[in-house]
Amino acid sequence: MTDFAALKRRFHLPEGVIYLDGNSLGPMPVAVPEHMAHVLRNEWAEELIRGWNTAGWYTQPARVGDRIGRLLGASEGSVVMGDTLSVKVHQALAAALAMRPERKVILSDNGNFPSDLYIAQGIAGMLGRGHELRTPAPEDVEAAITDEVAVLMLTEVDYRTGRKHDMKRLTEKAHAHGVLTVWDLAHSAGALPVDLAAAGADFAVGCTYKFLNGGPGSPAFIYVAPQHQEQAAVALSGWMGHTAPFAFSPDYVPGEGIARMRVGTPPVLGLSALEPALDIWEEVDMQELRTRSIELGELFIREVEARCPELRLASPRDGTARGSQVSFRFEDGYAAMQALIDRGVIGDFRMPDIMRFGLTPLYIDEDDVRRAVDVIEDVMSNRLWDTPQYKARKAVT
Ligand SMILES: *Cc1c(COP(=O)(O)O)cnc(C)c1O
Repeated sequence: MTDFAALKRRFHLPEGVIYLDGNSLGPMPVAVPEHMAHVLRNEWAEELIRGWNTAGWYTQPARVGDRIGRLLGASEGSVVMGDTLSVKVHQALAAALAMRPERKVILSDNGNFPSDLYIAQGIAGMLGRGHELRTPAPEDVEAAITDEVAVLMLTEVDYRTGRKHDMKRLTEKAHAHGVLTVWDLAHSAGALPVDLAAAGADFAVGCTYKFLNGGPGSPAFIYVAPQHQEQAAVALSGWMGHTAPFAFSPDYVPGEGIARMRVGTPPVLGLSALEPALDIWEEVDMQELRTRSIELGELFIREVEARCPELRLASPRDGTARGSQVSFRFEDGYAAMQALIDRGVIGDFRMPDIMRFGLTPLYIDEDDVRRAVDVIEDVMSNRLWDTPQYKARKAVT
């Protein structure tokens, strides 16, 4: 049994804050400062350049990748860390497209995160071979999988609504039509059980600063199914993905397996800050996490709908059809969210009218949900959001 009350104590949660934004940036595990002080003092300061060997920095992207892989149903040696999620989307999509040179359609959906769509547009432009990006509504994606499609590139859980695609079913249909899949797990990793091997996913990518709690700007991951690793074309052929980086040969030869998805020098400090969070994940049963996440979501929806008639549910009502967030629509959602944040209930806002609340069982419980709804009710029923102060947009929403 996962002890959720004990896990909550392993996060630093500021006084007076109910944190419902772990879907954007997870909170800091309390073990991080001490761990980082150790890395800085004992590794960087004392070991200097020797740290690449003596402190294991060089192998850290694969080692941490395997720890993440265990949360995602990925076999050893099929996940590697580095760069940002946008870069990993580029690598995965480019590799998948190269495996279907005769096909010209990239299929995604119109709820996908803009960066994923921008990267697809960028690759299509760079290839200059007439690739077309199709973005039907999420519910129409399945019907749009045809023999024309090269790659199905989807984010499993929609960043705005929390709507969840059926990864296994869509991957099966894709394969039946000769289509390769790239799954973005930004809102899945650490949010719900993922089994990449059972789903038959070809490529997957994700970030670690959201539900995995790795810290601001913590590095991303990429998964390549074992059967594709030796053929995967390398779009970003940096020296760290070379088969022998320290041979300093002028000609690129891709590394073995997943190692070729490394690009340049790994972000050692960022990867180190992620490790205490991964220690916590080792104590979490993902099925139990999922059950609790759905329960918290149901409680939140029930309370908000009973007490805040102005808010309209934007997420699927069926808990099994959404990720670990619940979103509501409200015309003045931006101002309402600012008013909530000012009162210690931190969620976020997404255009055009989405108020988004992450419900993360590692550090949110029923009591937090009820107290958060008390504040939401106060803000809504007394129109506390209706002041110019809350309507002025900040750079980051
Ligand atoms: C959060 C998120 C990103 C962000 O990409 P970065 O390169 O880490 O900034 C990309 N795609 C999806 C689906 C996301 O949810």
